[in-house]
Amino acid sequence: MIQSLLRKQESDTDLALAQFRTFSKQIPLLYFVLLANMMALSWTHWYVAPVGLTLIIPGILFCISIVRLLVWWRPSSVRVSSDQALRRLRFTLFLVVVLGASFVTWALSLYPYGDAYHKSHVAFFIATTVISCIFCLTHMRAAALTLTAITMIPFTVFFATTGNQVFVAMAIDLILVVVAMVITLITHARDFADLIHTQNELTDRQAQTQELSDENLRLANMDSLAGIPNRRSFFAELQKRLDHAKRDGTALAVAIADLDGFKPINDAFGHLTGDKVLQVSSSRLSRAMGPNMFVARLGGDEFGIIIEGERDKEALQSIAEDICQMLSQPIVFPDISVEVAGSMGVATFPEAGQHAQTLFERADYVLYHAKQHRRGRAVLFSTEHARDLTTLSQIKHELHSSRWEEEITVHFQPMIDSDNQRILGFEALARWDSSRLGPIRPDVFIDVAERSGIIHRLTEVLFSKALAAATTWPDDIRLSFNLSARDVASRPVMERLCGILARSDFDAHRLEVEITETSMMRDFSAAQTNLRMLTSLGAQIALDDFGTGYSSLSYLHRLSPDMVKVDRSFILDIETNPISRDIVKSLLDLAHNVGCECVVEGVESVSQVLILRNLGCRLMQGFYFSKPMPEDELQSFVAAHASNDAAGGRTSAANDRPEPTEATIVNLPSAREA
Ligand code: C2E
Ligand code: CA
Ligand code: CA
Repeated sequence: MIQSLLRKQESDTDLALAQFRTFSKQIPLLYFVLLANMMALSWTHWYVAPVGLTLIIPGILFCISIVRLLVWWRPSSVRVSSDQALRRLRFTLFLVVVLGASFVTWALSLYPYGDAYHKSHVAFFIATTVISCIFCLTHMRAAALTLTAITMIPFTVFFATTGNQVFVAMAIDLILVVVAMVITLITHARDFADLIHTQNELTDRQAQTQELSDENLRLANMDSLAGIPNRRSFFAELQKRLDHAKRDGTALAVAIADLDGFKPINDAFGHLTGDKVLQVSSSRLSRAMGPNMFVARLGGDEFGIIIEGERDKEALQSIAEDICQMLSQPIVFPDISVEVAGSMGVATFPEAGQHAQTLFERADYVLYHAKQHRRGRAVLFSTEHARDLTTLSQIKHELHSSRWEEEITVHFQPMIDSDNQRILGFEALARWDSSRLGPIRPDVFIDVAERSGIIHRLTEVLFSKALAAATTWPDDIRLSFNLSARDVASRPVMERLCGILARSDFDAHRLEVEITETSMMRDFSAAQTNLRMLTSLGAQIALDDFGTGYSSLSYLHRLSPDMVKVDRSFILDIETNPISRDIVKSLLDLAHNVGCECVVEGVESVSQVLILRNLGCRLMQGFYFSKPMPEDELQSFVAAHASNDAAGGRTSAANDRPEPTEATIVNLPSAREA
């Protein structure tokens, strides 16, 4: 039974360790009791028993006990492996057998010496020693039971056979006491084992909970699609590394990379391909990270990168350019190969800012710059950008005051039918000469207004002013008004614009709203529904900057605009570049085929006019005809044009297009004035 107890104990290493720890604190006490009892017994028998029994044997037992006491006394004995603990428990069991038998044999061998008192002391010695040893061995049930058996059997047999009534009673008494103790011991041992198991279960469960929460934390910080850290983790890492950089005085750069051309791929090939492009780009970025770099997906097709320890601007530029180039490598799938261009904005600590948010915003600002002017390249935030930002924040500040509502005006640029020199209409273009900041370019303040949420109010003010001017024009002249992407996306704004239009005296059929591809991109169907509010009143739709976007064709098809406006960028080198000419020709044909009008923008010279006319283009707009002009100049422009028309400069009939010559074209009022 004892063997089975020990085996059970050995199979349960956690329990063995716990027993070992508790029990090792009690063992020195056990030896103390043993030594004290032994010395007392030797002392009382000193003169009555032989020296071998009072000095030599107790001396040997004394030495062994002292050694064992010291072994257990050492604090290191508390920290042992489960194997060591088991080994020591087994040795303890062995010692219990050997020492228990030795002590009992020694004590009983003293019995024949001395008087009744001496004999009683022997019984007392065995009884107290056994009880206290069982007590000290409570946590090692196997040892306690072994000791009980080894001592109690000889004791009982010995004293029961003395025939002395007192000793027999003592033997019976001790057996009863020991039985009670053994029961207590077994119960205690069971409770102790239960306690340890419960404790271990709790620890296991705690570890499982910890593991789970670690996994949750990992997932919360990972982008499940890209398999790299996510936005949340990026900002946590940025803050951490920025704190280090501040403390150690090291350099740090924040970069934001963006995939140009991702959206059209997503639109054209579907989300699965889009997802794969993101995964490939993510893994390319991951592989490109050096030991002091960190990459995360910020969302969409945007990635954040932290570069530590590189102070040299040229080196940083080259790292960033390498990453852009790597992102721009074709991505080959079994059936298709696609290409995106990686643009990047980089802001360095401490030059570009001290705080994580500032650095991020500045990197984002130059990324925007890169996308606008240096697609597929990296731009580092510089002092020039800082100056621009200051200006932008001043503009933003001014836009938050209401002064601009007075200061802002609308200029008008004519669209001309080059067949008969008729003014088709005027495009309203915003102008702002701020009393505090001076003249500000419309693309600049419109962009600020869009970013700071003022665009809706700005559009409404401009629309009212443009309509007020246009009501004074002759009935056959149209008004073209630019709408920002945010206007088109907002139903309340479009409702308000409809209200303004309805309240004005301007005939809605003479209105044309110019929208760009980007304004339709975010939510096409919402934008289309919103635009329908205006078209149901009679307004027409022009697709602006036609040909510059990725999906011009798709929008032409889905939106069926009344007019497209070919972007100025195609006209710039039309005199020297046959490809530009081919592109313009294709765009004109395209518009013609879908039955919508086509205005070519940015016409600056007579030779451009001649080339365009040869390509079949009638409707044009540009500095050649007139720069955008204020309302008061517009009246005289219209009048001069009308008189020029009336003078019969050309004998044009609608279906009888005159051959364009330099002479006929320069006959326009603006061209003459220029
Ligand atoms: P846009 O709608 O493409 O307007 C045409 C721009 O080209 C105008 O610039 C015009 O002055 C310019 N332009 C016209 N002909 C020529 C030419 O022959 N050569 C050159 N180099 N440029 C020419 P502007 O007025 O500076 O406006 C820039 C942009 O600002 C506009 O581009 C439009 O996107 C935005 N914008 C202007 N006014 C408004 C407005 O009232 N509302 C909204 N949402 N945007 C506006
Ligand atoms: Ca326009
Ligand atoms: Ca345009």
